[in-house]
Amino acid sequence: MDYEAFFAERIGALKAEGRYRVFADLERIAGQFPRAHWHGPGGVREVTVWCSNDYLGMGQHPAVIAAMHEAIDKCGAGAGGTRNISGTNHYHVLLERELADLHGKEAGLLFTSGYNSNEAALSVLLTLLPDCVVISDELNHASMIHGMRSAKCEKRIFRHNDAGHLEEILRSLDPKRAKIVAFESVYSMDGDIAPIARLCDVAEKYGAMTYLDEVHAVGLYGRRGGGVSERDGVAHRLTIVEGTLAKAIGVMGGYITGSAAVVDAVRSFGSAFIFTTALPPAVAAGALASVRHLKADHSVRERHQERAARLKHLLRAAGLPVMPSESHIVPVLVGDARLCKAASDRLLDEHAIYVQPINYPTVPRGQERLRFTPTPFHSDQDMDRLVAALYRVWRDLGLALQQAA
Ligand SMILES: *Cc1c(COP(=O)(O)O)cnc(C)c1O
Repeated sequence: MDYEAFFAERIGALKAEGRYRVFADLERIAGQFPRAHWHGPGGVREVTVWCSNDYLGMGQHPAVIAAMHEAIDKCGAGAGGTRNISGTNHYHVLLERELADLHGKEAGLLFTSGYNSNEAALSVLLTLLPDCVVISDELNHASMIHGMRSAKCEKRIFRHNDAGHLEEILRSLDPKRAKIVAFESVYSMDGDIAPIARLCDVAEKYGAMTYLDEVHAVGLYGRRGGGVSERDGVAHRLTIVEGTLAKAIGVMGGYITGSAAVVDAVRSFGSAFIFTTALPPAVAAGALASVRHLKADHSVRERHQERAARLKHLLRAAGLPVMPSESHIVPVLVGDARLCKAASDRLLDEHAIYVQPINYPTVPRGQERLRFTPTPFHSDQDMDRLVAALYRVWRDLGLALQQAA
């Protein structure tokens, strides 16, 4: 077999569809977020980043940077081992306690990424529980799907955010069977929010455990940044709350929190947890400083919501097709992979505005979009420039504008 030709052909098909991924080569500028230097074909240019998941700019926060410097100076670069074999650093222990407290749980467990935490936790729990069935929201993230697939248990899918459909499925199952209901709080591509209390009502009625991915809400919602489950006063009703340290927390890593017994089971049986090196101490120290800061500083969350509301309003007023979103995520529909890429390219080349096109399989075909994530650091002037640039690009590409609202 001609392996080279085979792979080149597969990539060629992606390119023909207009959904070949090109990474923007960026250097983030600490202290000037959301600006970055872009290494493009025409040399290096300063651009404004509009699609970062560093939702609050915590990746450049002085307290986070200082904590990381200090930990590197004290402990060196790497953890030096798996958690079991010499790699547990005191910063890991402190961070796990802090995260358990954030979600009001007995225990927390760190992973090297949110992806790993979902994959490991779901696959362990679904494998350990005998004859278990998982009931999963149809729009759950790839990492949750991966975890559910690695377990050989029965899987059922409920319609997105539909507590009625979840109940229908649960009612049809043997009441004696072990069940886990898995869902997210903020869905990152549409920006809609799960009815957590109603999903918990149904899960409790049928004796199911609940697993909530709060990746796009941790740090951003709730009085202390405990996510939508904190905002809605329902954190205590969830069996497991999972999150990332890589988005609003601004560093890297993932985690679960839950009861001591459940977390201990994942710690003791999770292969993706056991057989990998622990996070560098400085990463844990930076995340710890960030979580502590965000617990105390609610004003940054208010500013974040205000920025998102303002951008939605400006886009709508300009007739740009903002998709309905209840959260800080601002998706603008293009509806075609090639046009979506073209719009993104023009924004970058002609306006020094960077927003990555979002194409299939991240979103369904026909729902290709630009996904904007305004942060507390995006100024009124940044927004005015963005809306003017988008309006021009829309006109130049012949994309439809809506009746100004
Ligand atoms: C980004 C993401 C993850 C993975 O988190 P990482 O820390 O980036 O690995 C998990 N779940 C959802 C919903 C995500 O969007």
